[in-house]
Amino acid sequence: VKYVYRFAEGGRDMADLLGGKGAGLAEMTRIGLPVPPGFTVTTEACKVYLKTGEEPPELGVEAAQALTELEQAMGRSLGAADDPLLVSVRSGARFSMPGMMDTILDIGLNDRSVNGLAEASGQERFAWDSYRRLIQMFGHTVMGVDGDLFEEAMAGHKKKDDHDLDTADLKRLTEEFKAIIRKETGEEFPQDPADQLSRAIRAVFESWNTERARVYRHREHIPEDLGTAVNVQAMVFGNLGSDSGTGVAFTRDPATGERGRYGDYLPDAQGEDVVAGVRDALPLSELKTLDPRAYADLGDHLHTLENHYRDLCDVEFTVERGKLWVLQTRVGKRTAEAAFRIAHDLREERTITADEALVRVDGAELTRLMFPRFDVKSTDRPLAHGVPASPGAAVGAVVFDSAEAVRRAAAGEHVVLVRRETTPDDLPGMIAAEAVLTSRGGKTSHAAVVARGMGKVCVCGAEELTVDTTARQFTTASGTVVREGDVVSVDGTAGTVHLGALPLTASEVGRALETATASDTLTDAVLGALAHADSVRRLEVRANADTPEDAVRARALGAQGIGLCRTEHMFLGERRALVEAMILARDDSARERALDALLPLQRADFTAILEAMDGLPVTIRLIDPPLHEFLPDRTELAVRLARTEHPDEHDLELLAAVERMHEQNPMLGLRGVRLGLAVPGLMAMQVRAIAEAVAQRLRDGGSPRAEVMIPLVGTVEELRLARDEAETVLGEVETETGLTLDCPIGTMIELPRAALTAGRIAEVADFFSFGTNDLTQTTWGLSRDDAEASFFPLYIDKGVFSVSPFETIDQEGVGRLVEMAVEAGRAVNSRLETGVCGEHGGDPDSIHFFHRAGLDYVSCSPFRIPAARLEAGRAAL
Ligand code: PEP
Ligand code: MG
Repeated sequence: VKYVYRFAEGGRDMADLLGGKGAGLAEMTRIGLPVPPGFTVTTEACKVYLKTGEEPPELGVEAAQALTELEQAMGRSLGAADDPLLVSVRSGARFSMPGMMDTILDIGLNDRSVNGLAEASGQERFAWDSYRRLIQMFGHTVMGVDGDLFEEAMAGHKKKDDHDLDTADLKRLTEEFKAIIRKETGEEFPQDPADQLSRAIRAVFESWNTERARVYRHREHIPEDLGTAVNVQAMVFGNLGSDSGTGVAFTRDPATGERGRYGDYLPDAQGEDVVAGVRDALPLSELKTLDPRAYADLGDHLHTLENHYRDLCDVEFTVERGKLWVLQTRVGKRTAEAAFRIAHDLREERTITADEALVRVDGAELTRLMFPRFDVKSTDRPLAHGVPASPGAAVGAVVFDSAEAVRRAAAGEHVVLVRRETTPDDLPGMIAAEAVLTSRGGKTSHAAVVARGMGKVCVCGAEELTVDTTARQFTTASGTVVREGDVVSVDGTAGTVHLGALPLTASEVGRALETATASDTLTDAVLGALAHADSVRRLEVRANADTPEDAVRARALGAQGIGLCRTEHMFLGERRALVEAMILARDDSARERALDALLPLQRADFTAILEAMDGLPVTIRLIDPPLHEFLPDRTELAVRLARTEHPDEHDLELLAAVERMHEQNPMLGLRGVRLGLAVPGLMAMQVRAIAEAVAQRLRDGGSPRAEVMIPLVGTVEELRLARDEAETVLGEVETETGLTLDCPIGTMIELPRAALTAGRIAEVADFFSFGTNDLTQTTWGLSRDDAEASFFPLYIDKGVFSVSPFETIDQEGVGRLVEMAVEAGRAVNSRLETGVCGEHGGDPDSIHFFHRAGLDYVSCSPFRIPAARLEAGRAAL
């Protein structure tokens, strides 16, 4: 193996080995840009070092050879007493980790060469300033001395800023710095330039494993084992006077995507000064006046780079006595807004193809652009952090129960519903509220799923909050008490809650997506990207929607049908009394009366939804959650009854029913198809409501495409029984109406056993819809309602998983079950339609997986549809 590459030997496609910076330097060298010469020590060398604690033996020889060549090219020797060559040593990993790892400049200076530099440059002050910088950086990064000690020593001399230190100050400071090192480490600052260089390289290797670098990698999902490359490069100086300077420049504005060069320039300074903000930098345009030639050269290089990389590039550059040098380039980071604009513009400029433009943007960026945003200042301290469960920004008065939320909202007030956790009971309050905040639960908790479905802002699992609904207040970790009526701001994108009303910015993109009309360059770019995604994607995108309003909105956002209509959401509100009556029914006729009363209500729901989705499939799932969810809370009811002297008959009956139906583990209990089979007439009523709605729509001249979906099936026998019953009802309605209804009947695959026996199940199913929420819950044996908030942070921290499996599909486990089931199902039923309707259906990474797994569609909350369309398109490229 070769551990050292001269810049002239590498190229842009070698980033794994040379790191991003090394590959960029090599590429610029190759295409003839003015890059100070140097070489790169590979990530492989770093990996060996991190594994064994020692450099690979070949490295020393190779680096010495490369250094000799560098010295020859420069006509100077490293640290020579007369006119010394100085080098910088910089880290550069495969993925950019800004400021996370180490850099050491001015390697090669010592007590003798500092005089040589003074003479050669004709600037004594500059030479001593460079020397003190080296001792400071080396002392801190290589020798581990607390950086504050140097800062303190410097403050002792400083008048206003570094520039006020004169040569005498700097000479004294240099001695003080050396003394600090001696005192702290018991060692002298090394005078041997070769020794300085090899220790600096080693320090950069080691900086891969600093705490902050680890934390950063973790957050950015950068693998731990990549290692960093080290770039050794001849120093050029921006601090040689007013004809020198340093800056950063972008080929376009990275904040807005606007065309035209953009950046900062700092005269008479070194690169580090720009980053450290020692002095205020000037806008790049000032360089035009200061040094028109350097400015023109820079413009040419930016042009060359953007054409070469065919993307926004940023560079770090230095002007040394009027001569421009480029020290680094990369394809620049950008905001979501800039990403869409730049991709669109580059395509219009014919620099990239439409496919390439689509790859340059992603669903997460689109989502960020769709919601109103807070203008949060860095000084704004949140009250609490939670799980960012449903994005957007909302402001409102705090309320602690659903009724109060409804009451205040009806009076025109904006409210934020705060609960420990939500239940189906809170639905009216959630609808009325601008945002939902809970102290328990994760991304698939009830609050999260429902809020996301409604496009409502939600932060859940804010465990620092103690919510006291009786006292109508919550308390933060720091003891702040927030009472009912106090105004808070909830940031569902960041997962934070702030006291008071933060200023809001509305989203033009959100509006453009719903109306499919562009109003400016950004919305034009977004709609353009989506149109291309639609033209290339294979996956269809449907919506999870349970109301006609959601259906209409989903359709406007591009949904190609409804993949999941959860009918239990229609059993709430006023209808609850009827559901209660059905559960409490003492005999068949009482139950039938209750079911008969529910029938027309359900039929009206389905008719309206089918109308909103006319011509598109609407997958209606029969009731899923346990019936006791529709009854009052056991403890509350028992306590209330114990306090009443003469409890009424109805309440006693209710309590008996609640007790009879109580389950220790309702998620694994009487729900889904089990419920449909156990409660006589329930399934028939729902299927009849669907069938009659279809008939109604047909009579009205519509094209209804209802599909009946049976939840939580574990064995083909369950589906066979359910299907028989459904077919009987469908047949009855066909006979009664004389119409052909054409309702496919299928099942959800949300239990491992269903996935494992999918071949059998497919014999009686027209379609499979993967309920990956329950499938994840049951495959992992992890409660979707509890697990996320409690030990997930620990698990993520320990690397057990890098992201919650409820958020992004676990490809190896749950995903494997999906693949197996699709394959087995299609083997027996070639016309089997397959989709996913769990929360993963709207998750970018998961969508790419479902594309590869060959599913026909994904179904997700209305507000995630644009992002899902975009990702389905990207997945197809
Ligand atoms: C699922 O389990 O993935 C699903 C879509 O059903 P629900 O979330 O309603 O249980
Ligand atoms: Mg489910």
